[in-house]
This record gives sequence, C-alpha cells and structure tokens, in this order.
Amino acid sequence: MTDPRNDDPLIDVHDVTKAYGEGPHALAGLTLRVRAGEALAVLGPSGSGKSTLLNLIAGLDRPTSGSVTVDGVRVDRLNETASATYRRSRIGMVFQFFNLLDDLTVMENVLLPAQLSGTPRARATARAGELLARLGIERHARNRPGSLSGGERQRVAVARALMNRPPLLIADEPTGALDSASGAGVRDLLRELNADGQTILLVTHDLTLAGSCATRTVELVDGRIARDVPAVTR
Ligand code: ADP
Repeated sequence: MTDPRNDDPLIDVHDVTKAYGEGPHALAGLTLRVRAGEALAVLGPSGSGKSTLLNLIAGLDRPTSGSVTVDGVRVDRLNETASATYRRSRIGMVFQFFNLLDDLTVMENVLLPAQLSGTPRARATARAGELLARLGIERHARNRPGSLSGGERQRVAVARALMNRPPLLIADEPTGALDSASGAGVRDLLRELNADGQTILLVTHDLTLAGSCATRTVELVDGRIARDVPAVTR
C-alpha cells in the first residue's frame, strides 16, 4: 500500500527505544523520518545503535517501545509471516558480504525474490534481464557468483535487492568488503539509483560513500541522533 500523499514519510520511526536485557538502551527515544527519494546515510561509532535501527526498519526485530512505520505499514506490529511478506515486497537489502547463494547462477540469485513472491516466470526473467543489463553484469548471468569479482558480486546483490521494485533499498556497509575501485563503482551505482528516485537507507563507516551518495546524513551516538545534516554537495 504505497500512500499517494507525498507528505507522508516513507520511513517513520517514532520515539523508539530498544533494550536488550539489563544494559543501557541500544536506542533511546529515537525519532527519524525519511521521505521518499532521500538517500540517508546513518553513521556512528560501533555500538551506537545502527544495526538495531536497521533491524527494526527491516522488521527483523521489534522495538521495546515506540512505533516503526514504513510505506504505511506498522512494521513493529507484524507477526513473523507478515514480516517476511513485508520484507519481500517493501524492502531490498544489500549486505557487506553480498549474501548470494553460490550454488545458484547469477540469474537464479536475482530471480529468487520474484519466485518467492509468485511473480510469473516470464515477467520475472524479463525484469532480471533488464536489471543485469542495467548494472552491466548480463554477461555473467549463467555464472556462479563465486567466479565474479567483489564489485560484480555486489552488483548482483543490488540487482536481487531491486527485483521486486521495493520502495526502500537498505544497504549495510555495501563497500565494506570491496577494494577502492570496486567500492567507487558501487558508490556510483547507488548514486545513480537514487538520482532515478530510489529511496536508500545506507549504514556505513565509509565517509566517502556517505559523502558521495547521501542526500542527508544522521549520526547516532548512544542510541540517539547526535547530528542530522543535509548533504552539502554530492
Ligand atoms: P552498531 O550497529 O552501531 O555497532 P548495535 O545496534 O549493534 O550498534 O548495538 C547497540 C547496542 O546494543 C550495543 O551496546 C550492543 O552491545 C547492544 N546490542 C546489540 N544487539 C544486541 C543483542 N542481540 N543482545 C544484547 N545487546 C545487544
């Protein structure tokens, strides 16, 4: 259910706390709104709550209090099945270590989300072909991911993440395992996708990545937003 009212944020995290056991709160009353079309980089030292925030937005965990709404869905209220459906249809995820299935070909990896959603085969194959071409990896369609370079593997992961046309692309340290040339390629790709309208939530330590891709940067410290700044230039 994509809400037609443009003033509603795509991500609306409201007054969220997250406690793990007895320790200090991993998130301590965090409020964050992200509009469709933004590319938001979340920065912050290790332990500041970045992964916790990402997991709540992806519906992989629930807040202790507060609400998480994405694309009109109250993510914090979903049961396990609804949460899996939410992830399949509303978000695409890209990880540091690609998380591709090495027993499948590149094409099969990219098709996977469409298969899980029951998209008709011909339509899914056409979409996957388009994505592979757009990302410059169509010549690898029949190869296994293990035979590709890191940068190419991350492109495959991005193609898979975009397969179901998710309103939100989440990238968790997408350049963390890449050499600088491949990292630059992934940076350019994310920037192009955002320029084409894709909303991106990026968690990274890579300041060059944040500086070149993000339209806005928030910095977490101790589970709170310490800084929230628009990008000056990209
Ligand atoms: P970051 O991603 O910025 O490194 P995290 O969200 O992983 O930060 O962690 C925030 C805080 O929550 C840290 O103090 C961490 O130790 C704690 N934490 C995260 N996950 C768990 C967990 N599963 N169990 C207990 N504590 C956790």
